[in-house]
Parts: sequence; structure tokens; C-alpha cells
Amino acid sequence: MSLRLENCPVCGKVYMLEQYSPAFADGAARGVIKCPHCGNEKAGEPDFIYSGHKLPGEE
Ligand SMILES: [Zn+2]
Repeated sequence: MSLRLENCPVCGKVYMLEQYSPAFADGAARGVIKCPHCGNEKAGEPDFIYSGHKLPGEE
């Protein structure tokens, strides 16, 4: 699993993005990066699962 900061092209906000192997998340959609602020979806690498989280303090 890896963690990085991602910038949403729609709302412009920064969020934390977890990227991990589908082996750890059966049934989750592959290759979809979803912004936790506005819900915009964009394509990631098709062999990974993505999970977006707001930064601490922005909940
Ligand atoms: Zn957004």
C-alpha cells in the first residue's frame, strides 16, 4: 500500500490517496480515483484500488 497527496482537477482541493493491490479489497472498483471532497472520479492505474481521504482537520 502506498500513500500520496493528490490534487482534484475539479474542486482544486488536496487529499490523501491510498493505492493498494486488489488482493486487499475484493470487489472494489479498480482504477478509479474518487475525490472525497466533491466525488469526482478519474482514472488511475487499472491494476490498483484507490481510496481517497480528506486531510486531517478538513473532516
Ligand atoms: Zn474534488
